[in-house]
Amino acid sequence: MERHATLAELRRALDNGDLSAIELTRDYLTRIADDSTNAFINVDEEGALAAAAAADERLASGDGTPLTGLPLAHKDIFCTRGLATTCGSRMLENFVAPYDATVVARLKDAGVVNLGKTNMDEFAMGSSNENSYFGAVANPWRESHVPGGSSGGSAAAVAAGLTPAATGTDTGGSIRQPASFCGITGLKPTYGRVSRYGMVAFASSLDQGGPMAHNAEDVALLVSAMAGFDRRDSTSAEREDTPCSNGIPATPEKLRIGLPREYYHNLDIAAELDAVRASLENLGHTFVDVNLPHTEAAVPTYYVIAGAEASTNLSRFDGVRFGHRCENPESLEDLYDRSRSEGFGEEVKRRILTGTYALSVGYFDAYYLQAQKIRRLIANDFASAFEDVDVLLAPTAPGPAFERGALTKDPVAMYQQDIFTVPVSLAGLPALSMPCGFVDGLPVGAQLVAAPFQEELILGVARDYQNVTDWHTRTPEAAQ
Ligand code: GLN
Repeated sequence: MERHATLAELRRALDNGDLSAIELTRDYLTRIADDSTNAFINVDEEGALAAAAAADERLASGDGTPLTGLPLAHKDIFCTRGLATTCGSRMLENFVAPYDATVVARLKDAGVVNLGKTNMDEFAMGSSNENSYFGAVANPWRESHVPGGSSGGSAAAVAAGLTPAATGTDTGGSIRQPASFCGITGLKPTYGRVSRYGMVAFASSLDQGGPMAHNAEDVALLVSAMAGFDRRDSTSAEREDTPCSNGIPATPEKLRIGLPREYYHNLDIAAELDAVRASLENLGHTFVDVNLPHTEAAVPTYYVIAGAEASTNLSRFDGVRFGHRCENPESLEDLYDRSRSEGFGEEVKRRILTGTYALSVGYFDAYYLQAQKIRRLIANDFASAFEDVDVLLAPTAPGPAFERGALTKDPVAMYQQDIFTVPVSLAGLPALSMPCGFVDGLPVGAQLVAAPFQEELILGVARDYQNVTDWHTRTPEAAQ
């Protein structure tokens, strides 16, 4: 099978009997064994082969789903019964969840074969995958460069052909930015669309799971299986519709697409975005400028809110009930102190400390409350923009992947990488990143954003764009 085959191509091969799910799974496991990007934390050879055998039986008996027998990898933030879930942290190095996350269970029920768990920034905090306890991940396009983060292992694995698709999570950009850096397509659904049950919590008012794959069609197939109401997640949206349950619908003609003026200053990828605009104009859509006036405040607002929520979510890792426990504690306080000091990495500690500070008596009003008010203003900016336009076209990140180590000494510069992804997260909107060209030989992505629950609209625009361009079919091997 071609190394970068899409899910749709693999589906056809399975259905035609060109190969079995077992053969396909073996093929990917062999490639993973040769991986030089460090994209995986755990490979589940035994589980994958058993799932593939079951898928072959199911296909033979004629009760397969469109996903039965297709391989996938899960970001190591999703709980998998019987298989370690580390969240990229020493704290959870030996944690084996007693249950499957809803996303994992849904895909398993559909017959997907889980190859293993992908590398990630510790507790999903980061934009470069350099914060993993299990080591940095290399960008398959250029090994000296980062794959983006925090779903860097998932993005690298898809780009390197180690899996045709993967799950990711996006709190402030962690699906979209690595998709952009690795030349693949990734969707962050509307907040509440995909259940967070069994997804290790980082910032609960922002966290959202979603798919990463080669193109919009594959992403749509996956989101249709991942999405849906779940009573075990209190923020799960109770809706009748599932996006793309019958594939991506036809795109309405003559969409009005907004260009947020604040996003288009000093961009490294301005020419590439102009070309996206030209392609979409050729398809009959029109473009207008829109304003998102509170954009500048989004990064500080996000880092106050995400840090505050992380500081409370991560308090459960106390060395008593979960995760790493220090040797020979002298007292309860010593147990907490050393277990947490040893179990968490530097960036996670930075977030816990700043988040605790923002929530503390005396600073709560100045930071946390203020951030909540600005969050509302940012959401209102998007709501007014969507009174005028159907979709927004924006950069996903300011430029292509950067070199490993380039931003590690300057956390604020690292946080600024998220300038175009965090506003959307604060507003809870659906957004996707799709490959739209190359800068300095590295892939870059364009971001499409829509109003809440309009995933089908941006997937439709992305599908139409991918029908007339071939950026999403480029592979790192061909580039070398
Ligand atoms: N880079 C952002 C952060 O470090 C976003 C992470 C994410 O979306 N999980 O918080």
